[in-house]
Amino acid sequence: MRATVLCFSGLDPSGGAGLQADIEAIGQSGAHAAIACTALTIQNSQQVFGFEATSSQLLLAQAQAVVQDLPIKCVKSGMLGTTENITALAEFLTAHPDYHYVLDPVLVANSGGSLGDQATLVAAFQQLIPLATLITPNTVELRALTGINDLDAATQKLFELGANAVLVKGGHEATPDYIRNALYIHAELVSETTCSRLDGEYHGSGCSLASYIAGRLAQNDSIQQAVNHAETWLWTVLKQAESPVSGGQKIPKRF
Ligand code: PLP
Repeated sequence: MRATVLCFSGLDPSGGAGLQADIEAIGQSGAHAAIACTALTIQNSQQVFGFEATSSQLLLAQAQAVVQDLPIKCVKSGMLGTTENITALAEFLTAHPDYHYVLDPVLVANSGGSLGDQATLVAAFQQLIPLATLITPNTVELRALTGINDLDAATQKLFELGANAVLVKGGHEATPDYIRNALYIHAELVSETTCSRLDGEYHGSGCSLASYIAGRLAQNDSIQQAVNHAETWLWTVLKQAESPVSGGQKIPKRF
């Protein structure tokens, strides 16, 4: 059976982000996706209307059900919703130190809607930082996680908090023509990639990127190889993204 990524992520009914993005991206990476669902959200490509988080007991029961069943090589987390779910995931990862783990520190939807209480999520994420093979913050999340505005200092702070590797995604920076991502491993900058900025807003781009990386790690890519493969793939699926009839954020066409 294909190497499996177990995703802790929420349902987005629009299919642009969340667990559907994870399933599609991981499938495209060549791996198999399994899901422990963290929350049911109410949203479309324009806004988040609300969500109901899964209890931490139910979340862990979903994850435990597939541990003996599937060849899990990597865990990926996106929206976790509550501090209880973050603590449950930290316990799960501590019990499975052989799994790679990609932490996408989701705080808000790209549309700006709340996916949990930001202050409590930020505090709880500190438990997950030392457990991750790779953390994939955008610059808004990086500043929120560390409380530091300067990007270099904020990145170094994540390493002080125990990070192993960090991919800083520059899509939210004021660079109208390009996006620059920077990959750090053990606090050293190991690669920088710049791509031309595509027009418009995209729903689920962060989920797609982190999941594709997780899929490649599950298939034994190095961190740098996995990130390079995922960035190339993401640019293509964003380039062919489809616009919803409402004019909301574009939905990546992942296959
Ligand atoms: N997870 C869920 C369930 C979401 O609904 C969203 C955004 O709407 C995200 C994660 C983060 O999405 P993005 O990849 O756009 O940052």
